[in-house]
Amino acid sequence: MIINDTIAAPATAQGIGAIGIIRLSGKDAIAICQSVFKGKDLTKQASHTINYGHILDGDKVVDEIMVSIFLAPKSFTTENVVEISCHGSPYIIEQIVQLLVKNGARLANPGEFTMRAFLNGRIDLSQAEAVADLISSNSEAAHDIAMKQIRGGFSNQIKNLRTELVDFAALLELELDFSEEDVEFANRERLISLIQKIRQTLKPLIDSFKYGNVIKSGLPVAIIGKPNAGKSTLLNALLNEERAIVSSIAGTTRDTIEETLNIEGIAFRIIDTAGLRETTDTIESIGISKALEKIEQAKILIYVFDINDISIEEINEAITKFQRSDLHIILCPTKIDLIPEQKWDFLIEKLEAASIAIIGISAKENINIHLLKHEMVRYVSNLKENTQSTIVANTRHYNALIQADEALQKVLEGIIQNTTTDILAFELKSALDYLGEISGAVTNDEVLGSIFSKFC
Ligand code: GDP
Repeated sequence: MIINDTIAAPATAQGIGAIGIIRLSGKDAIAICQSVFKGKDLTKQASHTINYGHILDGDKVVDEIMVSIFLAPKSFTTENVVEISCHGSPYIIEQIVQLLVKNGARLANPGEFTMRAFLNGRIDLSQAEAVADLISSNSEAAHDIAMKQIRGGFSNQIKNLRTELVDFAALLELELDFSEEDVEFANRERLISLIQKIRQTLKPLIDSFKYGNVIKSGLPVAIIGKPNAGKSTLLNALLNEERAIVSSIAGTTRDTIEETLNIEGIAFRIIDTAGLRETTDTIESIGISKALEKIEQAKILIYVFDINDISIEEINEAITKFQRSDLHIILCPTKIDLIPEQKWDFLIEKLEAASIAIIGISAKENINIHLLKHEMVRYVSNLKENTQSTIVANTRHYNALIQADEALQKVLEGIIQNTTTDILAFELKSALDYLGEISGAVTNDEVLGSIFSKFC
C-alpha cells in the first residue's frame, strides 16, 4: 500500500453549495497547493492557520479561496493536510482538483483519507468505521453510537481484553517449545478464570448488537392490513405528508413504499405494504409477495384494520399468522372517527384481553397518532434497557465478537477435556485474531479495501 504520495479529493458533497472544500494530504500537500496559489507563501505559514488568496490556472483566476493548513503530525491523517475552501460550484471544484493533480497530487480513492489516518496510527479500524457511520447517521441515537465509537470507548475495552490474553498465548507457545519436557507455564486455573471474565465482557457487547443494528440502519416497521383498511392514510399521518397515494379503490398501493421517520431521535423505516388479500391481478400479487418479505424483516408490525369492518376471528387469525418472538405487533383499529366512542372503546377493551398492544386511531382526523408513535418508541427503549452503555452497531464487529467468543469457549472446553497444548494455543490465537480484527491490530488488505471502499 503506497502512502508516500499526496492525495487530493473534494471533501464536500457533490452539487452546488455556498462553499466547497478540497482536501490534500501527504508530504507535498503544501508545496502542491502553493504551485497553484497566489497569496502568502504557504510553505512558511504555521500549522492551523487559514490563508486568503486565489487559485490560478496559468494567468487565469479560477477562484478566490481560503487555505487551511494542518502540519504533520497534528492533522486528521497525521500527514501534512491542506483544505482549500472555494465557492461551492461543481465546475470550480473540478477545475481545482484537476490543477492539483496536474501539479503532482493523485486523486484519492474512496475513504483514503480515513484509511491513512488508520494506517498512520491516528485512529484504529473501528474508529475509522465510526467516521463513516457518523457521516451517514440520520438520527440522534445513531449519532450517539458513532460518536462514542470515534472516541474509542469500545476499542479500548477490546484492546484491554486482548492484552490480558496475549500473555497466556505466549506462555502456551512457550510450552510448545518445551513440549518434550512436559512443563506447564500457563496456569490452567488462571486461564479459565480469565476466559470466563472475558466472555462475561463479550456477552453484553454481543447482545447490544440487537439494539445497535436497528439504531444504525433504522428500525423496520411494516404497516399491513386489508386493502382500504387505511394503511396509506396512516403512513401519511405518520410522515405528515402526502407520500403514499391514498385512494378509495381497493388495491391501489401496488408496491411497497418505504420512508424513514424520525421519532424522538430514533429512525424508523416505515414500510407500507400492498393490501393483503387474495388477488388475480399479477402486478398486485407481486406487491403482496414483497409485502410478506418485508414482514419477515420487520421488527414492528402495525396491523391496520377498519374498526367498522372487522371480526375478532380475523384479528386472531392475523396475530397467529404473523407472531414471532422478535416481532412486536401493534393492532391498529382505524377510522374511529366514524363510530361513537363508546362503541370503539368497547371493542378495543375486548381486544386488549389478548394482551397485545392495541391503539385505536383515526389517521384521517389525526386522532391518537401520537400514542402510536409513543408505542413504537417504547418498544425501542425496551430493547435498549437490556443493553449496556457500550453498543455494537457494526456487523463486522459483531461477527468478530461472536467468533472470538466461540474460540474462547473451545479453549475452555479444551482445558476441561485435557486437550493438547497445541490445540489450546491454536484456539487462543484465533480468539486473539478475531478480537484484533475489530481494532485492525490484525488485518489484511482485502478487509481494508472492502471497509474503505464503502466510504463516500
Ligand atoms: P389502504 O388501501 O389500506 O392504503 O387504504 P387508504 O389509506 O388508501 O384508505 C382507504 C380509504 O379509507 C380512503 O378513502 C381514506 O380516505 C379512508 N380512510 C383512511 N383512514 C381513515 C380514517 O381514519 N377515517 C376515515 N373516516 N376514513 C379513512
